[in-house]
Amino acid sequence: MSETIEIAPRSGTAFRLLAGQRLTVIDPRGVQVADLLAYNAEDVREVISSGRTFDYAETIRLTAGHLLYSNRSRPMLAIVEDTVGRHDFLLTPCSYDTFHHFYPELPPHRGCFGNLAEALAPYGVTEDMIPVAFNCFMNVPVDGATGKLEVLPPTSRAGDHLTLEARMDLIIGLTACSAPASNGGSFKPIHYRVA
Ligand SMILES: [Zn+2]
Repeated sequence: MSETIEIAPRSGTAFRLLAGQRLTVIDPRGVQVADLLAYNAEDVREVISSGRTFDYAETIRLTAGHLLYSNRSRPMLAIVEDTVGRHDFLLTPCSYDTFHHFYPELPPHRGCFGNLAEALAPYGVTEDMIPVAFNCFMNVPVDGATGKLEVLPPTSRAGDHLTLEARMDLIIGLTACSAPASNGGSFKPIHYRVA
C-alpha cells in the first residue's frame, strides 16, 4: 500500500501521475469535495474536458467504467472504482469571484481556483488554462425538465473514495474544496494515494 497524503482543508496540490498509475482520492471524514484537474505532462495545452467527456459518455453522471477525456479527445483517466457514484463535472473551481457572488458576507477566499493556480504554476499552467474541474464527491443534481441545478452536501461518508487510472503521463491538480455550500458548511481535508 502506498503512502497516504493529506491535503489540508481549503488547500490544493499538484503532482505527476504516470500512465498506468492509479490515483485514489479519499474523503476521510465525509461530505467533502475534491476538485481534480489533469494535464498532459508533455504538453499542458492538452487538458481534461467536461464537454468531450459528457459527449462520449452520453451522460453527466460519471462513475466506474467511464473515461475522462482531454480537449483533444484522448482518454486521460479511467474511473476504475467509485464508492459514491455522485460527482460533478459541470461547475468551475470555486474562486474569489464565486465567493463574491455567493457569499458576499464572508471573508473572501481564493478557493480551489487560486489553490490550483498556485500548485500548477511550476508546471507552466496559468489561470486562463484552468477549465471545469472534475469535482470528486460534489453533489449537483440537475432537474431534467427545467435544467435547474442545485449544490447540495456531498453524499460521501468517511472513507469513501474514487480511483482513477492514468491513460497518459499527467500533471494532476487536486484540492480540498473551500466553498461552504459544496461541503455541507464545513471544511475537511482530502487524502490521496498513488499506486
Ligand atoms: Zn472548491
